[in-house]
Amino acid sequence: MAARRASPSAVKLNRTYDVAELAARLGVHKNTVRHWQRDGLKPLDGRRPVLFHGSTVRAFLSSRSASRKSPCPPGTLYCFRCRAPRAPALGMVDYLPISATGGNVRAICATCETVMHRRAAQATLASILPGCDVQVVQAPPRLKGSPSPSLDCDLERQATT
Ligand SMILES: [Zn+2]
Repeated sequence: MAARRASPSAVKLNRTYDVAELAARLGVHKNTVRHWQRDGLKPLDGRRPVLFHGSTVRAFLSSRSASRKSPCPPGTLYCFRCRAPRAPALGMVDYLPISATGGNVRAICATCETVMHRRAAQATLASILPGCDVQVVQAPPRLKGSPSPSLDCDLERQATT
């Protein structure tokens, strides 16, 4: 939904905007602007209508997008429900390879139990999710109830040793 993304450059630096003007300028809902205000977007003063200075808005939006782009700290994935990096529940992580080197990391948020996803190279898993129990899931997923070839191999190996 690229059209809804607020572009800081749409705001003129030398102008002030009220909530409705700012929302129209950036193509967002007025509630979004009020949400930004709660998140730290400083109005010009305490008067009504609330006015925001263009330069303040730009600084606020660019710092926000910068922090959003920052990678999650080690041991976490970004949970879109919590809107924060979260640790995987029970330290359990699924890795779904897409190519020889890259794939999707999948885990359950330890806080709200929402499924979290993150793109990662398999080689970086140990460093981005230290101490997590990473299970590599081969696509397509195995049918429920069908025998697992890898398990059979392990059993055979155990039997012969
Ligand atoms: Zn969560």
